[in-house]
Amino acid sequence: MSQQGYVATPPYSQAQQGLGGYQGGFGPGPAQPHYGHYGAGPQAYGGPPAAAMKSPVSSAPGMPPPPVSGPYNPNSQQNGAHPQRYPPSSFGQAPQPSYNSMASPAPPPPMPPTNQMSAMNLGNYGPVQNPPSATSPVAQQPYRAAPPPAGTQMAPPASTQMAPPASTSMRQPFPGQTLPTGPGGFHQPGPGPLGPPGYPQQAGQFMGGHMAGPQPGGFPAGLGPQAGPPQKKLDLDSIPSITQVIEDDQARHGGQVFSTNIRGQVPPLVTTNFTVQDQGHASPRFIRCTTYSLPCTADLAKQCQVPLACIIKPFARLPKNETPLYLVNHGESGPIRCNRCKAYMCPYMQFLDGGRRYQCAFCNCVNEVPVFYFQHLDHMGRRVDFYERPELSLGSYEMVATLDYCKNNKPPNPPAYIFMIDVSYNNIKSGLVRLICDELKTLLDKLPGEEGAESSAVKVGFATYNKTLHFYNVKSSLSQPQMMVVSDVAEMYVPLPDGFLVDFRESRGLVCNLLNQIPDMFTDTNESETVFAPVIQAAVEAFKEAECSGKLFIFHSSMPTAEAPGKLKNRDDKKLVNTDKEKTLFQPVKATYEQLSKDCVAQGCSVTLFLFPNQYVDVATLADVPSHTGGSVFKYNNFQVDTDGEHFLRDLRKEVQKSIGFDAIMRVRTSTGFRATDFFGAIHMNTTTDVEMAAVDCDKAVTVELKHDDALSEETGAFIQCALLYTTVGGQRRLRVFNLGLNCSSHLSELYKSCETDSLVNFFAKSAYRAILNQPLKNVRDILVNQTAHMLACYRKNCASGSVASQLILPDAMKVFPVYMNSLMKTAPLTGSTELSTDERAHQRLAVMTMSAEDTQLLLYPRLIPLHNIDVGSEAPPTPVRCSEERLADGGVFLLENGHALFLWLGQASPPDVVQSLFNVPSLAHLQPHACALPELDNALSRKVRSIVNDLLEKRPRSMKLHIVRQKDKPEMMFRQFLVEDKGLHGGNSYMDFLCSVHREIRQLLT
Ligand SMILES: [Zn+2]
Repeated sequence: MSQQGYVATPPYSQAQQGLGGYQGGFGPGPAQPHYGHYGAGPQAYGGPPAAAMKSPVSSAPGMPPPPVSGPYNPNSQQNGAHPQRYPPSSFGQAPQPSYNSMASPAPPPPMPPTNQMSAMNLGNYGPVQNPPSATSPVAQQPYRAAPPPAGTQMAPPASTQMAPPASTSMRQPFPGQTLPTGPGGFHQPGPGPLGPPGYPQQAGQFMGGHMAGPQPGGFPAGLGPQAGPPQKKLDLDSIPSITQVIEDDQARHGGQVFSTNIRGQVPPLVTTNFTVQDQGHASPRFIRCTTYSLPCTADLAKQCQVPLACIIKPFARLPKNETPLYLVNHGESGPIRCNRCKAYMCPYMQFLDGGRRYQCAFCNCVNEVPVFYFQHLDHMGRRVDFYERPELSLGSYEMVATLDYCKNNKPPNPPAYIFMIDVSYNNIKSGLVRLICDELKTLLDKLPGEEGAESSAVKVGFATYNKTLHFYNVKSSLSQPQMMVVSDVAEMYVPLPDGFLVDFRESRGLVCNLLNQIPDMFTDTNESETVFAPVIQAAVEAFKEAECSGKLFIFHSSMPTAEAPGKLKNRDDKKLVNTDKEKTLFQPVKATYEQLSKDCVAQGCSVTLFLFPNQYVDVATLADVPSHTGGSVFKYNNFQVDTDGEHFLRDLRKEVQKSIGFDAIMRVRTSTGFRATDFFGAIHMNTTTDVEMAAVDCDKAVTVELKHDDALSEETGAFIQCALLYTTVGGQRRLRVFNLGLNCSSHLSELYKSCETDSLVNFFAKSAYRAILNQPLKNVRDILVNQTAHMLACYRKNCASGSVASQLILPDAMKVFPVYMNSLMKTAPLTGSTELSTDERAHQRLAVMTMSAEDTQLLLYPRLIPLHNIDVGSEAPPTPVRCSEERLADGGVFLLENGHALFLWLGQASPPDVVQSLFNVPSLAHLQPHACALPELDNALSRKVRSIVNDLLEKRPRSMKLHIVRQKDKPEMMFRQFLVEDKGLHGGNSYMDFLCSVHREIRQLLT
């Protein structure tokens, strides 16, 4: 796909003189066309559908099977109607003349920041009445406008209260002189600004109360970096709040049923508890889009620069009250598909000719209905069996795949799980090996099984390694486990044709015997060198031998320095931070590992890595195979059994038990006019359309960028069908099909109204994290800021043009978008600080690449939960507050979590009774430093807090280690970096400052 975006040639620094240098989405690097990554952890999956609806197996005798494109890869054909005729990346690719060549006014004279800032107002748009008097208020006083009728506005007195210069916190200068005065698009008459003149007044768009602050109509007196004379901080309540937006959405949709019967309907936020009823469009748990109203033309898309993308989580866990996917069986001939584009039968196919033919919604081809599938139409033209067939009435369902969909036309074997344990000195000494072996004895009883099956069909195998590999034969007929050592690691093979992969129940005695022996066998080891690539190669060979796919669990602690393929050396170099070579810190060492990823994907071997490093181990390289094979990477620095053991075991348990599919190929088909152009996830791409995944589990999501290749029609809308072919844990070949209809509009206001911020943020996080493989961080951050400004400026220009120029106007659906973008820029991968560990940054970068919108939302805006005034009797969890120091209190106790980190923060004046109840000590001074667990005490507060913590640990894909920090203690710094509305510890703006700088940029764009 496109090779520009972040990787623009000429270098972005040149392109920067116009916004034209970048586009809505950032293209992948040319060198690494697809970096997917490892991801988050597990959660028990609700389970595959209990083959519910009865489906006709009554295939007509003699019906030829529907054409498939290949024996194994039915998806391999292009979407018939609109194959690649569209030049990759129409939008935003080349320099956009309209932007650069526009006779735009000369750049504005550099203005002192004061002036620029001073005019900033923030507000939702409303009828522009009562612009506050320019002379009124004082900086600290929120301006109170007359309660805005429809929209609200924040129109602080224009010049007064903008706090002065940016000298303080503007980390990234926004030199007015180098920025474009405004993309050409803005100067053009512009197609389609809104229809009705009255638009700005529409309540829907600007619906009241967007201003998050508790006081409707209360606006900030001024927004500005607090420099110069010490000013009291501006009131946070005056700028949009994520916690408020979350609460409002919960109040509006919480506990409600979201029926997917309307095309283009925007779902509730990812944070809201709602129930989905599938009525023809896939549940937002499976697919979410950045907007539910696509712009009709590529021009409009280019103009607004709002990325068009969907985030697909094929194994999303469903709550108990939602129906699992139905299983459709079209009999021997296999699933019914369009002859031309190969789309699967779905609710959008139009039946014609009395039901004898149907027109494909994706390519418009008219197909014959197979005889066995014929059904009469009712007076509305709908098949009379509409409600009996999931594929005609539902957005999501599964289909039985026939042999045509299997490798070599043979039904697959059930997958296997292989455990390979590094038994070098460190892991033995720390007690890790014993911990793993003890856990596996019970954990293997909980391997995932087919829905309804008595037991799991998953086989297991075991090996240990340091410089050499040791395989174990645990065939049930043996009396003792046998060990086979392979010391020639260059040509890896598995020395056991039989007895390596076994059924745990049949070989339980031997396996337990083995797991008892392993820690003792190596107890005197001095070996500290390890190999790594051969360990993965061995698993691939074992899966090949057994003709199955599966999952490899590696428990590894050091950089592989022993002489072997994939040997690594320390290439960590902090001097590269903030240079053009910083990207190399994120790039894996290729050679061996690149080929290994391909081998793994070809065999369906998904690699999950548990790392226990005491120093730099080159995570970027070690995690490379997991990040292309649907695997996960877990990292426990300086692992100690007593403080980290439980934390690790929670991850291991989730990872072993989670719901998962193997040997998967995903294909995203679209109706004519647009198509999927780029993919982000723990995936591998051999072609431009087939997304290959050695495995995909309930936490992994693939983000798919969409682009126009023609105009879209408002009438017909746009359709997406995602089909995932995979092997179940029981060894069945199946298809998961998700269908979604979107609206199309030639009014940008519709697009902005239908934006989904949680999804937008997911897309930006993944595209930026991929871009840093190829570009300097500063470019990437600049692009994020510019694009944020551009998206909002376009809204301002086209959808709120009646407003006062100095107002910052945010679309209601995107009003907290800037908070997330600012937080994203302060994450470790995007922060050029030598204080951050290279491995940590690489780890986080890769983690995000597989995340769903829920996970990125939480990562970028942690939950900060006050516990000191908690109602112990209440069932409801306490309401989170904004992630800012301002919300902390010396006498408060707070829990903070973001899915990866978990803190209990204790103010220095924490009430003694609270401390006593939680820790059984009289005061904070008595608390053990580095405490990381809450004692089990028999009182209501202790029980309540522990239950909140346990719920979180249960709910999140990964385990989190609890850090207990006291205010003003050194470790408190770790905690503070998660207060994302404040200035970043390692640089980065506060939310307030960021909003100011974005506003400034918007004003320049609009000039
Ligand atoms: Zn078709």
